Order: sequence, then C-alpha cells, then structure tokens
Amino acid sequence: MSDLRGGIDLGGTKIQTAVVEADGTLRGEARRETPTEGEPADVAKAMEDALREAAAAVPVKPEELRGVGVGSPGDADGKTGIVSGARNLPGWEGSFPLGEALSKALGTEVRIGNDVQVAVEGEYALGAGKGLNSLLGVWWGTGVGGGIVLDGKPWLGRGAAAEIGHMVVKRNGARCPCGRRGCMEAYAGRAAMEAKARRDLAKGVETDLFHVMKTRGKDRLTSSVWEHALREGDALTESLLRRAIRYLGTGIASAQNLLDVEAVVIGGGLGGRFGDRFMEDLEGEMHKHLFVSDNPPQMKVAELGDLGGAIGASLLIS
Ligand SMILES: [Zn+2]
Repeated sequence: MSDLRGGIDLGGTKIQTAVVEADGTLRGEARRETPTEGEPADVAKAMEDALREAAAAVPVKPEELRGVGVGSPGDADGKTGIVSGARNLPGWEGSFPLGEALSKALGTEVRIGNDVQVAVEGEYALGAGKGLNSLLGVWWGTGVGGGIVLDGKPWLGRGAAAEIGHMVVKRNGARCPCGRRGCMEAYAGRAAMEAKARRDLAKGVETDLFHVMKTRGKDRLTSSVWEHALREGDALTESLLRRAIRYLGTGIASAQNLLDVEAVVIGGGLGGRFGDRFMEDLEGEMHKHLFVSDNPPQMKVAELGDLGGAIGASLLIS
C-alpha cells in the first residue's frame, strides 16, 4: 500500500477529486460534472470514475491508496458512511450507503464527512488557518455553510453544529431555502439571491444578470455570472451583493461574540470569487456588531481554491 490518499468533493454541480500525499501535496486530480438525473448509485459511479482518473494521473491504483475521504452534502454520517437528504443531488431525498458503495468499487477504505466541515478542516491544516488554534469557516455559495475548529479540534456538536447560514439575522425576515424566515442564507446564499433577482426583474427592475446568464450558456445565476455582471457595472448585482455582505457581517459578528475565534475564513463559490474584493466591507459590517471590538478575528479568504474540498476530504484518512 502507498501512503497516498484520495479525496472527493461531492458538489451539486461538480465532483472534484484529488490524490495527495500525507502532507497534502497534490499528486493527481480530476473532475466530473455531477449527474443531474438518475439516482445516488449513478452519482457514486461518477465519483468512482473521477477518482480513478485522478489516481491514473499519479499513477497509482485506487486499491493501493491508504483510503479515500469524501466531503458530502446532506446529512453525512461519518460512522456508517450513509448519506441522507442530499436534496441537490438526483434521487437523494432518502438514504444511500455511499461509503460502502465506494469502498466496494474502489477496493479501499472510504470515510465520509460533511462537505463544508472537511473543506474548513483542510484550510485549518494546510491553508488559511495553518498555525492557528481556532477558526470559523464561512462557506458562501449556493447556501451558506460553516465549519468550526476550537482548541485545535473540529467542533461538530452532536452532528449538526456550525450551520451559520441559518443563524437568524432578521426576525420574520426573508424566506430562506430551508423554509424558515430571516436566516443569513436567505440574504446571502446564491440560490436566495437568484430568487430575489428574479422577483425584482418581474417587478420591472432593470438588470443585465439574466442576459449575462444566457450569453454564458447557463440556466442559473452561477457565481461566474454574478462576477461578470458586477464587472459590467450592473446596479442590481452590486446592490444584492452588498446586501449579502451586510447580512454575512451581521451573522459572523454574532458567531464571533459567541465563539471568539482567532480567524474567520471565507470560502465557497462566491466567497472564493468575492472574498478579497468585499473583505473590507465585510469587516466593516462585522465590526458594527462585535461586542468586544478591540480584538477582532483575522479575516481571511480560503487558500486551497477549487481543490480545497477534495484535499480537506483526504484528511479524513489518518
Ligand atoms: Zn434557513
């Protein structure tokens, strides 16, 4: 057996895989589009194919890997390897033994973790959080996820901790994709921002967002669509992003008042694209709500980039 590990980041639009050394050094990578139709077994097959391709790039056989870690959306049970309620994946409302299926297909140990938590742990071990003792990761993308490291250890609660996107930033506020009202994600999540843009468009607000979406061949407002529309100076784009930043700042400040971590790391699809550009605004919004204002956390953008989720997942293998 080699000392190499595999990592798979299972996202709603793409599956990113990596083969890395024990210290996180990248040796091979491959990606696939996430199937939009079919059932969980089809998604598992695409994951297997992508991991095989990453292993072939090294080259190493999958069964020679020390193991493969998976960062999964939905309710990912690390003990059983079962993933339930991954609603942005096809046919995955129920439960599927993802760990067992992949382990059988790849011939090596497979461990499952929460997608955002493993990405945050990757940043903690190898990226923006290296050398720190505590951090809060805020993954700003389709939704807003989180991950917490306290005293050098991940804080998972009883399995449901760090759902920072569903911290209430406004009572009876905007409807969140989770069905409740006033969550941070209801203002800052990409899906909620798109829904708001569509409502505004229907009310007659002028915007280039949907024109940019069509010319880029997309059927939804991806983070690249937001970036292009912002670059073109689209007013609605800028105002919705600023609104997202205000509520992110509010929620992060509340979390900081509770946890007092050394650093906040911003990642995710939107976070990676806009983190640097809006960091000063985000800090300003956060500062307004910090109870102890003279010792704010360091604010950082995730450093491991597109492969961060896969590399973080590989750390599930000890
Ligand atoms: Zn919510």
